[in-house]
Amino acid sequence: MSFVRKLRASAKFPFSSVNRLAIRTFSGIVQGLPEAIGQTPLIELKSLSALTGCKILAKSEFQNPGGSIKDRAALSIIDDAERRGQLSPGGTVIEGTAGNTGIGLAHICRARGYKCVIYMPNTQAPSKINLLKLLGAEVHPVPAVAYTNPQNYNHLAKAHAERLGSNAVWTNQFDNIANRNAHIETTGPEIWSQTAGQVDAFTCSTGTGGTFAGVTRYLKDKSQGRVKCYLADPPGSVLYGYIKSNKQDLSDRKGSSITEGIGQGRVTDNLVQEIDLIDDALKIEDQKTIEMVYELLDKEGIYVGASSALNVVAAVEVARILGPGHSVVTVLCDSAHKYSDRLFSKTWLESKGLTIPDHLAKYVVLD
Ligand code: PMP
Repeated sequence: MSFVRKLRASAKFPFSSVNRLAIRTFSGIVQGLPEAIGQTPLIELKSLSALTGCKILAKSEFQNPGGSIKDRAALSIIDDAERRGQLSPGGTVIEGTAGNTGIGLAHICRARGYKCVIYMPNTQAPSKINLLKLLGAEVHPVPAVAYTNPQNYNHLAKAHAERLGSNAVWTNQFDNIANRNAHIETTGPEIWSQTAGQVDAFTCSTGTGGTFAGVTRYLKDKSQGRVKCYLADPPGSVLYGYIKSNKQDLSDRKGSSITEGIGQGRVTDNLVQEIDLIDDALKIEDQKTIEMVYELLDKEGIYVGASSALNVVAAVEVARILGPGHSVVTVLCDSAHKYSDRLFSKTWLESKGLTIPDHLAKYVVLD
């Protein structure tokens, strides 16, 4: 039996999606950058598998062309706007984003001939702003204020689109479910296919919630509810408290986090339909996250940002909850490149009250 047929038989996919997976894997040629998004490897983190007795598997989303998981959402949102007739050649794409969605949008806008306008909080790493400009985007760094404030970067992005009127789209990643659908249509099926359905649990953190909700929806549907799904939250995000309080309390914002791109103050439209599918939530402290950034580098040669490290800490905790013999999947959202001047700086680590264990201290290479 050919490999493609075996894949079809084992994954029980509709032919069209398996064809797409197989063709993308074996032909080697894709028609432009947007088609190079997705189909990322699922890496077994062998040191952590050995530690836990479980298979710890991580989707290497840093291998997307824009360098993050958000390329998938950006493409899905633009495709959706085109299908709806909201975007045509020469149009403008406008978004409020902490960076990665903007980078994904900027790449795709260049490839498809759209103008890209990005509003982002001015607390984000400066290298993200430079990259967006370099990709041809018009960037507006604005004060970081709460969502309830009309000056929040999301509202400013929306107002900009309204000013432009026709052929301008506010992509609205937080509440546009084309974001979540990207993961129902691609990330979830890829995980199912790559593990041949041998997956017991999925865990990841949420920014918009698109990744978590989409993958959770797909894996729950495909496994008839068998795959357990755990939401991982950094300090300062309300979702952990919300789930632990049986969806009563959205007010617990205690603490703050070094992670960028994750943590949420509300239940977004991308998350709301999947909130009842969540089996449990985990709160991951920054000290564990930063140690995992360094451990992944030291033991696996994997150089990822803090949200990825937090996800891996959560996967290890889920493995401990389930016990040996299980298979736990998580997501490596982006690489450490954009954050290296922070994550590997002695001064920055000290300013955050974080310590690096002696055996990893050699990676603190910046003052
Ligand atoms: N990690 C990083 C680095 C991100 O930029 C984001 C998106 N803001 C996420 C994780 C969370 O992804 P999602 O929006 O799908 O919840």
